[in-house]
This record gives sequence, C-alpha cells and structure tokens, in this order.
Amino acid sequence: MLTGYIHSIESMGTLDGPGIRTVIFFQGCPLRCKFCHNIDTNIPKQGQQYTVEELCKKVIKNKDYWEQNNGGVTLSGGEPFVQPEFLFEFCKKLKEEKIHLAIDTCIKTEKEHIDKVLPYTDLWMIAIKELNNQKHLELTASENYEILDNIKYIDRKITEKSLNSKIRIRFLVIPTLTDYDELISSLGGFVKSIKNFECLELLAYGTHGKEKWYKIFGKYELEDIREGNTDDLEIVCKKLEPFNLKIKY
Ligand code: SF4
Repeated sequence: MLTGYIHSIESMGTLDGPGIRTVIFFQGCPLRCKFCHNIDTNIPKQGQQYTVEELCKKVIKNKDYWEQNNGGVTLSGGEPFVQPEFLFEFCKKLKEEKIHLAIDTCIKTEKEHIDKVLPYTDLWMIAIKELNNQKHLELTASENYEILDNIKYIDRKITEKSLNSKIRIRFLVIPTLTDYDELISSLGGFVKSIKNFECLELLAYGTHGKEKWYKIFGKYELEDIREGNTDDLEIVCKKLEPFNLKIKY
C-alpha cells in the first residue's frame, strides 16, 4: 500500500501561503542547504507513515476553518517531491475536496512529476537559493540548473494549459551571502520574466535551526553569519525597485 513519510503537521499556519492553513511537512529533501532550519526533515524515511486516506482524514476536519479564512493546505518539508507518487495521490485527493492547495518546494525534481501535480496546484511557492550555480553549490548540495529550468517549465505549462495557478518565489536574504547586488539584480530579472507571477516573498535568515544541526552533524556551518532582520529585507527591496515587482515580507 502506498504510504508517505510525514515529519509533522501544523494546523494553524499563517506563514506558508494565503489565509490560515494546515501545513504538512514531508520528510526528505535533496538539497541540504547550509541554512536549513528544518534539517531533521532531510533524513529520508523517518517521521510518521500515512496512507493518502489517513492523511486526508486527519487534515480535512479543518476544512470549514480554511474556507472561512481563505486558507487551505500547504505541502512543505523537507521537499514534497521526494515522495512523488504519494504527493500526486494526495494532491488528487485534496482537490476532490476542492481545497486550495499550495506546494512549498525547492523544485529539484523530474518534469514528469511536475506534470502530474500541475492540474491540482493553486499556488507554487518555489524557493530560489542562488542564481549563480557555483555559489548555489557552495550553499546547498546541488546545482541550480534543473531548479531554474523547472520554474520556467511550470510557468510555461500553466499558460499552455490555461490553469489558474500562480507562482510565488521565495528568497531567503542571508546577510553577506545572498544580499549582494549582482544576485539581487539577477533575481529581479529572473522573477520579472515569470508570466504567472503572484509575488516575490523575501524572508529574513534565522538561526533557529542551529540546535538540530549540532545534534545531527555536530556542527553548524554558518556560525559566523548574523541573523537577518527587516532592515536587510528593506535594503533588498530597494535594490529591486527598478523591476517593479510585487514584493511581500
Ligand atoms: S530545500 Fe528547504 S528543506 Fe531542503 S534543505 Fe533547503 S531549506 Fe531545508
């Protein structure tokens, strides 16, 4: 029987998509970002195992509440696409219930998996970590070519299939690492080219995941980097002004 590994479920999420949402954190992620505050979700096949029906039954009881608050369900992690079959079946099931569905993803996955989930996804919340491939490799365990290509692919498919879905880009502003002019300018240009764009969401870097790193790996690699704050986001916002983008932070 098909089952998925779920790290945790948050029933009153206000940070991961519109309205009040149930956020389901999938277990497993291929990126291992040095700044990850959920690094325990990276370890595959841990957490609680659910069938599609069990997970749906567990979250559906909040349906009335979501409807009153323009909310829904956000699939996050970890990385939901690490369990593509379970993800697909679960999305399908949620859509039968007419639930607003957002996927919070790093989108390092194969296009065939994207194709299957596309018709059910109302909001793609996609994280861009770095646009320079070398620097992306320094920050994560992966190149960024497939990720950037997949964002363009999703955008193209939404248009071709006349779907109502939107793309939100999430970008973590890490002082001295991801706030330099060249990157912000490339980010502005890349985001501007997305046709089905909802907004660019800027997030301030936090170190609240540090303890998990110590516990799992015995060290935290960004020890010398300070916490981010609203001032950092305002500076980045200012740099993005020429692109005239809808920005949220
Ligand atoms: S993509 Fe997200 S969950 Fe995966 S390692 Fe990076 S920050 Fe963590």
